[in-house]
Amino acid sequence: MRHHLHSIRSQKYKKHFYLCLQIYLPMENNIITETIKSLEKNHFEVFFVENREEAKRLFFETIFPRLKPTTVSWGDSETMKSTGILQEIEKRPDCVLIKTFGENYTTLHKTYWRRQALQADLFLAGCNALTRKGQLINVDMVGNRVAGITFGPEHVVLFIGTNKIVNNIEEGMERIRTIAAPLNAIRHPHLHTPCQKTRTCMNCQSPERLCNTWTITEKSFPQKRVIIILINETLGL
Ligand code: SF4
Repeated sequence: MRHHLHSIRSQKYKKHFYLCLQIYLPMENNIITETIKSLEKNHFEVFFVENREEAKRLFFETIFPRLKPTTVSWGDSETMKSTGILQEIEKRPDCVLIKTFGENYTTLHKTYWRRQALQADLFLAGCNALTRKGQLINVDMVGNRVAGITFGPEHVVLFIGTNKIVNNIEEGMERIRTIAAPLNAIRHPHLHTPCQKTRTCMNCQSPERLCNTWTITEKSFPQKRVIIILINETLGL
């Protein structure tokens, strides 16, 4: 029995070690190619770029002129923000950037603008994990980010680093519980969750729990509504 428990624990640690390693190791080319093919088969439109600068260029030179959005909003994403596109969109005279939070926003303001964001022409976000079979896995606290990805805005563009690729849904959820969600909690010190200390999910009952709604997006509907810019860098959480 003791040996059995030890073996389960060591398997768990090995899995966690492998997931952590993925943060730092470049993704293998054959895995990237397989993932892109799967995503396309799942009706997503996919662009593959080498870095954030290329992602930004691609967005403004190819995607933005084609979609011609007059309203744009976004769901919190470190990867998307790291490209610097929000600042550029804000300067454009042909488009309004719907901000869902700000220094003086009350909860009421935030809720109002989050609802408005779901009617934007274009919604920008990232993704917590992406499987080799081309499925998107996300977890959300409020739900406005996963809502925008699944329904509402006519177009969605997701910025995803290749470090987010995992073998399957189970591994993706494990990655989120042991890496992405605790790091996200640490990034929000005003919220109080046990994983800020333990650095792994405790499946908490905290009123400020960040992991309330899980979504798995198997396919893009309508076809190519969701555009993915896959960036060959380690980005986001
Ligand atoms: S469920 Fe709670 S403990 Fe687990 S990652 Fe989310 S916020 Fe942290």
